[in-house]
Amino acid sequence: MRVLLVGGGGREHALALGLVADASVETLIAAPGNPGIAGVAEVRDVRPNDPAAVAALAVEVAADLVVIGPEAPLVAGVADAVRAKGIAAFGPSAEAARLEGSKTFAKDVMTAAGVPTARAFTCTEPAGVGKALDEFGAPYVVKNDGLAAGKGVVVTDDRGVAERHAAECGRVVIEEYLAGPEVSLFVVTDGEAAVPLLPAQDFKRAGDGDTGPNTGGMGAYAPLPWAPSGLVDEVMRDVVHPTLAELRRRGTPFAGLLYVGLAITPAGPRVIEFNARFGDPETQVVLALLETPLAGLLHAAATGTLAEHPPLRWRAGAAVTVVVAAAGYPAAPRTGDPITGADRPGVIHAGTRRDVDGTLRSAGGRVLCGTATGPDLAVARDAAYDLVRGIELAGSHHRTDIAAAAAQGLIVVPD
Ligand code: AMP
Repeated sequence: MRVLLVGGGGREHALALGLVADASVETLIAAPGNPGIAGVAEVRDVRPNDPAAVAALAVEVAADLVVIGPEAPLVAGVADAVRAKGIAAFGPSAEAARLEGSKTFAKDVMTAAGVPTARAFTCTEPAGVGKALDEFGAPYVVKNDGLAAGKGVVVTDDRGVAERHAAECGRVVIEEYLAGPEVSLFVVTDGEAAVPLLPAQDFKRAGDGDTGPNTGGMGAYAPLPWAPSGLVDEVMRDVVHPTLAELRRRGTPFAGLLYVGLAITPAGPRVIEFNARFGDPETQVVLALLETPLAGLLHAAATGTLAEHPPLRWRAGAAVTVVVAAAGYPAAPRTGDPITGADRPGVIHAGTRRDVDGTLRSAGGRVLCGTATGPDLAVARDAAYDLVRGIELAGSHHRTDIAAAAAQGLIVVPD
């Protein structure tokens, strides 16, 4: 199979490693890729958000499958443009990707499908914002209605901060606060059949102990030793299948990766958000444990044959990834700093570039991820932190508590 991978972050580096490990993949091309991906794929400098350019590249390289990593190309219609050329694309149509592209649309679908989620109001005026904040009380949850690369959400006890975020965004969704540990469940689907991957947990806040501002994600681990038994079955039954059915009913079936972000509340799992693509950095840990060939699985979803795909196989043990972020991330990441210690197995490139003289430099907020597996979480975690300690990047920061509580059995959820 000839596969074209669209994107150039840590998620795409993890996808690239999974794809090239699949014996059915003869050639992997990535657009635009990054220096890590360039180690395993041929990289092409094409703008990932340009549907016509990506579709033309898919034709030029005679791709049998196009895998679209990030949300922006999906919302821009890249999957539609590729499919219009008769080429299989893993990723939803622009219409279905609105599940991520608009929080209001997602809430509307959830309401119609009877999916358990936080109560919410969409507001555009200060008066509406004030009423919604009064209704739910603190902690306040204020979400930018449009795409914000995972950074458009403010959760705060400070009413002024909540009001200012609402004013800056213009159109926001204000919702009830959901208390409980979070779970990211990735579901591969062809629109009808749906296959869950291992649940994972990511760490959204910049600082240890879940302090500091929200980020795109500072680390992740899988599996979740504390997850209630039956959680995945319950989410498939109460969330995934009703949502897929509602989107089919609307004439916009969702095929690709449905990311279900959940809070495990005392009343049961509640949806925090949907995304239309693999999560970053959870992909790094989930794919590290997937034994089933990745390209075959994504091809089955892209061609409507997922129901005939064999059950997934998983490696025993656990995986942990720790993000190394640039100085100033998330507010104002500094880029252009030289990096050493990154060219090692398990180091995933997220925001890097390489100079012509070979020097690796930071090129984004989240720069690298140290990713490791082990027989259990504690061993995987030590190995991931060994990788992180070997990386030198001036001013960088990382969390020191990724997977710590889970490894020590400190997360307890009623079964
Ligand atoms: P989102 O972009 O919707 O995933 O939100 C980013 C992060 O904000 C989530 O991973 C949660 O940590 C937090 N969050 C979002 N919505 C809620 C909510 N209703 N209650 C509590 N935390 C939330």
